[in-house]
Amino acid sequence: MEEILNPFPPEKSPCEGEQMFLQRKPLPYVPTQIDAFTTESALIRPSGRIIHPAEMKDKLREIGESKPPVAVFEVGGTNCWFRPGQINEEGLFVPTDELCEQNAFRLNDPTGKSYADFIGGISSELDPAIPIAFNAAGRHDGHKYIPTNSPGFRQYLQQHEFDLRCLFPEGTTVVSLNDAEAGVTGLVAEHPDLTENGAILLIQGTGLGVAVWDPISGRVIPTEGGHPRLDPNLNPHEQTLQHCSVHDDQRTCLEWVGSGKGVESLARRLYDNPTLTGPDIGRLFGVGYETAVDLYDNAARIGAHAALGIAHATSLPGNLDGVAVGLHGSLFDKIPGYPWKTDQYLTSYTDARPQVVLSGNVPSGNLSNSGAAYLAALEGY
Ligand SMILES: [Zn+2]
Repeated sequence: MEEILNPFPPEKSPCEGEQMFLQRKPLPYVPTQIDAFTTESALIRPSGRIIHPAEMKDKLREIGESKPPVAVFEVGGTNCWFRPGQINEEGLFVPTDELCEQNAFRLNDPTGKSYADFIGGISSELDPAIPIAFNAAGRHDGHKYIPTNSPGFRQYLQQHEFDLRCLFPEGTTVVSLNDAEAGVTGLVAEHPDLTENGAILLIQGTGLGVAVWDPISGRVIPTEGGHPRLDPNLNPHEQTLQHCSVHDDQRTCLEWVGSGKGVESLARRLYDNPTLTGPDIGRLFGVGYETAVDLYDNAARIGAHAALGIAHATSLPGNLDGVAVGLHGSLFDKIPGYPWKTDQYLTSYTDARPQVVLSGNVPSGNLSNSGAAYLAALEGY
């Protein structure tokens, strides 16, 4: 029975880390962490766009009849991507693959200028009639964008008063939105059948982000779900060095343990190796190093608490029963068994069964890109 329900069956030959995940008992639930999620601590703000899925689908299908181009820039903590594509007759975003691969970009620049050059260089070559989605982790307010995960890019934009328009040629239609908001929009657009009771998108990549879609109001609700204070019971390796930049608080927040950068900073201390990177820790996990498995296991537990905490602090059912949960980001994509472990936590902590969707499994590449592309198409055409 359990096997039929499992949305993420293990690989045929699971690596050591995944096998350890499969054999381990789930780490305990921490109800006091859920109580720490409030409108203030998670900056829950009813400021997102209003989406009516059926209406949006109809408009996208109509737009898609002429297969118009849309371009997406996606900015993460350590990467920046350009994905050109088009909306098809079914109203779905389809990347046009020629440019997609060659433009994958890895940042190794403390000033953030390479991000700006990359985005500016490509967008100046584009037909200005093509609407652009600017999909990035951090805070967006109209034309203002403040990156939270990439200090160099933040510094660069600060010189331009955080005005995004400094990156694009004048007159271009640019829809700027947070990666979690974009992802939950993609989830609602592509899975209307699963999202009738609401949707939540959990990001665990460089950072930890959460956004909600409320089916009653139709509104997307951005949050800072990675930044409530971390309960000491979810901090077994005693992360104390990092403080929360969102709340300017000396105490550790969920993100500093439950994200890629949290895992990285802990692994560097625990393995006494200041140069370890995410891929290195992924390899240690793959061959079954206990500490690496512990760190990802606890990160998955923290992600589940973030989703349940945000549900508790918003109008979603507190146990996420029947709610669509999108899982997005490098931890889900790169760590074998991680989506399964997250699903295990979500279901073992409540007696409910959310509808779990892996963002990286959709044809458009991921839900965050497709959601951003839909909003750009709706605004630009
Ligand atoms: Zn924080």
